[in-house]
Amino acid sequence: MRITVLAGGVGAARFLRGLKAEVPDADITVIGNTGDDITLFGLHVSPDLDTVMYTLGGGISEEQGWGRDSDTFTVLAELSAYRAGSGWSGPDWFNLGDKDFATHIVRTSMLAAGQPLSAATATLCERWRPGVTLIPMTDDWTETHVLLAGNGHPDGPGPDGSGRTVHFQEWWVRLHASVPAAGITVEGAAQARPAPGVIEAIEAADVILFPPSNPVVSIGAILAVPAIAEAVRAKTVVGVSPIIGGAPVRGMADACLAAIGVPATAGAVAAHYGPQLLNGWLVDEQDKAAVDAPEPAGITVRALPLYMTSLAATATIARAALDLAQELRG
Ligand code: GDP
Ligand code: CA
Repeated sequence: MRITVLAGGVGAARFLRGLKAEVPDADITVIGNTGDDITLFGLHVSPDLDTVMYTLGGGISEEQGWGRDSDTFTVLAELSAYRAGSGWSGPDWFNLGDKDFATHIVRTSMLAAGQPLSAATATLCERWRPGVTLIPMTDDWTETHVLLAGNGHPDGPGPDGSGRTVHFQEWWVRLHASVPAAGITVEGAAQARPAPGVIEAIEAADVILFPPSNPVVSIGAILAVPAIAEAVRAKTVVGVSPIIGGAPVRGMADACLAAIGVPATAGAVAAHYGPQLLNGWLVDEQDKAAVDAPEPAGITVRALPLYMTSLAATATIARAALDLAQELRG
């Protein structure tokens, strides 16, 4: 069986663990979000690609859900000493551990030598052996930006006196999404070409799965690449709701949905994807009402427990997604 998954970070990585456990012999391709990518200290950081790679490869910090296991922060402390003791003003709000730095150094050195991000990702995965083929959505530059509503930025208002536009990571990590977003855009996506292998993996797949990733900044960013959205629309797509009982289970996905005017409910997220794209939708039992009144019509909804509390619970969710896909394919 060939399965292609559009993936963000933590939600996707957990789901993928369950999927691999459920169908160990399946050929799984993961198309990773690069909208979260950011250049920090001159290094190209790909948070979502790394979360999937470390989680499936056994190098993740289980406590955090991102970053390396048992990492130390010596480099960060040294950077902090330069910030305090010199005129240097590098960012102080993004945590990177020492082991994690090595990943970003390998990636950045390959990019500096003229290699594409997909080649750097493949090289990193040679070490981690995640058991899936992990491909960035594009080798072209993309960055998700957030237009802040109002003047809540610590550095003051934007140049014209109104809200600033910041990198998604600055809004998410530095501001904890505490300043409401008036808009979210994936810069570069409209012109981006899918990375080598992306369209092939979508076309060859028996099913496309959307894990319970952030619908706006994870899956939404991948679908912002026009050729990817077009290829996915032609396939059987089954998604897992990241919203349970009107709230994201972890994190602040509701703040991203609010920014694009979508209510934080399982039904509204399905309607946002729409029946052209999404064929099947798994919702939690708490959201069973969405089964009786699927909105919009044209999406087949099933309800089951969607908390990824254990590997076994997550494997059951993956099985339900595959069964629904099988049913829809007839
Ligand atoms: P990120 O890039 O690290 O934010 O990760 P993703 O975009 O892949 O996934 C984040 C989303 O996962 C959050 O917005 C949550 O709504 C969702 N999520 C986290 N844990 C669970 C869970 O146990 N069950 C479900 N259904 N969704 C979850
Ligand atoms: Ca992410």
